[in-house]
Amino acid sequence: MKPDLNSLHPDRCRPLRGLNPLSCRSWLLVALLAFVTACVTSPTGRRQLMIVSPEVAIAESANAYVQTVRELDNDDELLDDPELARRVEEITGRVVASAVQRYPHTADWQWSVALIDDPETVNAWCMAGGRMAVYSGLIERLALTDDEFAHVMGHEASHAIANHTAERMSLALLTQLGIAVAARDGDENNPAALSAAALAAQVAITLPNSRTAESEADRMGMELAVRAGYDPAAAVSVWSKMEALGESRPPQFLSSHPSPDDRRAQLAALVEQMGSLAPSSPPQPYPIDIVN
Ligand SMILES: [Zn+2]
Repeated sequence: MKPDLNSLHPDRCRPLRGLNPLSCRSWLLVALLAFVTACVTSPTGRRQLMIVSPEVAIAESANAYVQTVRELDNDDELLDDPELARRVEEITGRVVASAVQRYPHTADWQWSVALIDDPETVNAWCMAGGRMAVYSGLIERLALTDDEFAHVMGHEASHAIANHTAERMSLALLTQLGIAVAARDGDENNPAALSAAALAAQVAITLPNSRTAESEADRMGMELAVRAGYDPAAAVSVWSKMEALGESRPPQFLSSHPSPDDRRAQLAALVEQMGSLAPSSPPQPYPIDIVN
């Protein structure tokens, strides 16, 4: 049964020592958010903030993807390159096949890759629900091998599988909720109201940051690529290439993927262990849509 936020009497709330007094409603909201936070874990066992459900994130992402692809098409920015399309379809299909084996609920996703004609941009992304995009600059400027490209796609798919989109949306919503609580509790100069917003922000700060999500996607993505029959060492070489390129013109990928300082060392330490997951024969590519 949902608690009635308005039925609580303010006198029942006693402020904690050292904190400004908050209304019952604010404390209850923060307590509920903390409870929700404690109840959700990622595939690697990490505690996640999740007040936006993965289903909502997938539905919202579907709308955003359709709109993005339509705009790219209107601007003639989709890449018509049959040879590259076949390569992307084969490699991504094998990575997705290992994702579906490992996480069967993703079999229902709309796995797809939009090929974007942008030789300057080194980037790729995956929305909730398996809708992905690859910029031609990623493959061309880094001169990616098949194994390296597989690790990039494994990394991107893992962001979606680990519900990182829903997590980021939840953080944004939490920030808005904190502001809304502050607004309901009084004017912005009210110290109690400011404390409610600050406390909501503190809840967010205690959560793993995006670098932790990056490490999670690195590890999960490496496993997916290796289970798809690709060389585990390529997870390290792709980051070496990314770093080398960063010294001249920083790739977009690095700004949208904040890097833990020891990322390459973390990946290198996993190569031997991940090697034992290699299949005797690679999986058949899973059917995916190539949007071009
Ligand atoms: Zn990432």
